[in-house]
Amino acid sequence: MLIKDGLIFYNEVFKKNDIYCEDGIIKKIGFNLDKSTGDFNVVKSDGCLVLPGFVDMHTHLREPGFSYKETISSGTKAALAGGFVTLCSMPNVEPAPDCEKNLKIQNKIIQSDALCCVMPFMSITKCRAGRELIDFRKIPCYCPGISDDGNGIDDDELAQKAFRAAAEFGILISSHCEYKKFSGKLAETEHLRRDLDLVKEYKCRYHAQHLSCSESFDLVRRAKYLGLPVTCEVTPHHVCFCQNDVRDSGNFKMSPPLRSQNDKESVVKALLDGTIDVIATDHAPHSPQEKERGFLKSLNGVSGLEVAFASLYTNLVCTGRINLSKLVNLLTLAPSRILGLRSAIAVGEKANLTIVNLENSWKVEGKKFYSKGKSTPFEGKIVKSSIEYTIFNGNILFKR
Ligand SMILES: [Zn+2]
Repeated sequence: MLIKDGLIFYNEVFKKNDIYCEDGIIKKIGFNLDKSTGDFNVVKSDGCLVLPGFVDMHTHLREPGFSYKETISSGTKAALAGGFVTLCSMPNVEPAPDCEKNLKIQNKIIQSDALCCVMPFMSITKCRAGRELIDFRKIPCYCPGISDDGNGIDDDELAQKAFRAAAEFGILISSHCEYKKFSGKLAETEHLRRDLDLVKEYKCRYHAQHLSCSESFDLVRRAKYLGLPVTCEVTPHHVCFCQNDVRDSGNFKMSPPLRSQNDKESVVKALLDGTIDVIATDHAPHSPQEKERGFLKSLNGVSGLEVAFASLYTNLVCTGRINLSKLVNLLTLAPSRILGLRSAIAVGEKANLTIVNLENSWKVEGKKFYSKGKSTPFEGKIVKSSIEYTIFNGNILFKR
């Protein structure tokens, strides 16, 4: 395959070049690569960006157990349409991947149905019930980390045991910060504060999921200042919306909820100063019935994969808040670094590429998503940029 005349994200700058791939590997990067020898696919990417395939650290694929909401097949199809080639699947499925046997049940479906790379997180506690830890000695190396996403770990003693064991076995803890004993922002910040104290004590690798308020960013900022092995993520909806935008619709129902205008502004500051490491979708699809009960009665979670890049580009880059190179980093190299993956575009690396046209605009319509989850707070919004191609291991798996 020869990708002609794209603006390639190469060493963190954009450079007009061609890419030649063979057997799923990038073989050559250069100007005016010859296409006269051999018979291969030419992808014209004139005026488009050629980016490393996006990496999502936080996706709910719902299978096994909830395939009426999403399947590994439909979720990975949505991922490709959104430019993602690697997903970390969250463990709130049934059975929860809390032991080798249950992880295998999920992994078998991943092997047969996933269209892109899916890295399954295991849970921290049995059945994600927050009472008993899983066996940390039996976490396989293909599992990028553990999380009880959807639930915080309320029991401080159990959390202490988990963080100690995570340090001992070199496991990444990805934490959904929500203390049941507090409400509002305090549920997030006090849980995060407890976690960061434990990281300080045990020095385990720690990632805070979907942080939503300025106090949380301050806590992470301070932890990083102390040199602790801490990273965190924010979602596209917390970047683009605040509570003033909420309408009486399931499209705005998510956990954590949208916060104040000030919190939304604090996200940009935390992105710019490096407090926030990555943007992750928290793609959390539900059936239409579960999302059509108005704001109060709908379930938490929105469909995120297919509108992530366009919404971020429109709201962050087009408004001059952050530059394009920074945005690409947040979706590619930064999550890869945390997960120990390689995603930079370079000779000898896998041809996992996302080709983006920045000139297009489109109207978000959830009903057109490949995901089974059709609910999005971006419904009806006009967004800029479109994913033209998603190439995984040298194959075009999505073409607009
Ligand atoms: Zn969560």
